[in-house]
Amino acid sequence: MHARRTLISPRTQPPSEQTPTRPTCALRTPGGQCLQPALCPADTLPIDGLCLAMRSDALEDASPEMQSNAHTDRAGNLVVYEHIPRRPDLPANYDSYLYPTEPWGGQTVSSGYDLGRSDMQQRRGHALRAVGHGGVDLPQERGAPVRALALRGQQGDAEVLYAGPLFGNTVVLLHIVRDGENTRSLLALHGHLDTIAPGLRRHQSVAATSLLGTVGDSGAEGIVHLHYEIRMLRPGINPARLEGPMSYVAQDNSVPCDPRNVLPMRSTPVRRSAAARDASK
Ligand SMILES: [Zn+2]
Repeated sequence: MHARRTLISPRTQPPSEQTPTRPTCALRTPGGQCLQPALCPADTLPIDGLCLAMRSDALEDASPEMQSNAHTDRAGNLVVYEHIPRRPDLPANYDSYLYPTEPWGGQTVSSGYDLGRSDMQQRRGHALRAVGHGGVDLPQERGAPVRALALRGQQGDAEVLYAGPLFGNTVVLLHIVRDGENTRSLLALHGHLDTIAPGLRRHQSVAATSLLGTVGDSGAEGIVHLHYEIRMLRPGINPARLEGPMSYVAQDNSVPCDPRNVLPMRSTPVRRSAAARDASK
C-alpha cells in the first residue's frame, strides 16, 4: 500500500517570541520529573521535528479525523489535502495579526484560509480552478503599498526568489523561520499585484517594510486585493534549485501553511473606519 506523508505543524514552540528563563512545567511526577505534553497530534509521528502523518491512500483505513480532511476536487476525485493547519493555541481571529497591507476600512481579511475546513465549507465557484483557499485575501485600494513582513521567529532578512507572473503579478519571498530547535524555509506569495516594485530582483534581500509592489487585480480581473499565501518547503528541498514560477507551488516542493502560524501579532486593535462602524450598526 502506498503511504502518503502529511505535514502538520508540531507543537514545540510557544507563540510568544520570548524564551522563558526557567521552563515552566504544567505536570510533574511525584519525583519532580516534568511530563511533557505530546508534541504531535494523534495519528502522527515526530520525525525530523515535524509531525508527519502516515496516511493511506485507501481512505477507509484512515481515522475519522483524517477522513474529514478528504475533499472532492472539481473533477469529482476524492483527494487528501496536505497542509499545515493553524496551531490551536494561536488566535483564530484574523484581526490579531499583521499583514503586508494595512487594513482597509477596518477590514483585515476578506476571504480566509480554509484548507483546514471540511469539504463543503471550502471556497468554491465556477471561476475558481481549485476548491479551497490556501491563503488569505487582503482587501485594499488599487495602488496601495504591499510591504515585506518579518514573520514570527524569522532569522535575518527575507530574500526575493521570484518576481513575475504566477497568481497575476506575484512576488515570492523566502523566509527562514526558527521553529523550536529547527529552522524552516517558508515561501510567502504576494499575488494579483498591480505593479512590482521597480528594481526588485531575484536573490535580493528585503528588510521588513520594504516595498514589494502595489495592490491590484492582475489575474483576478475586477477584484482588487492581495492574495497572501505561506507555503513551507518540504525538508530537503533547496529553494535555490527551484526554477520557474510553478515550482514554488508544486505539491512535491511545498505545502500550504495557515499563515496565522507565522504572522506577526498586532499590538494595537484594528481601527474600524466610520463607514465600517455604520455598516455594522
Ligand atoms: Zn486568495
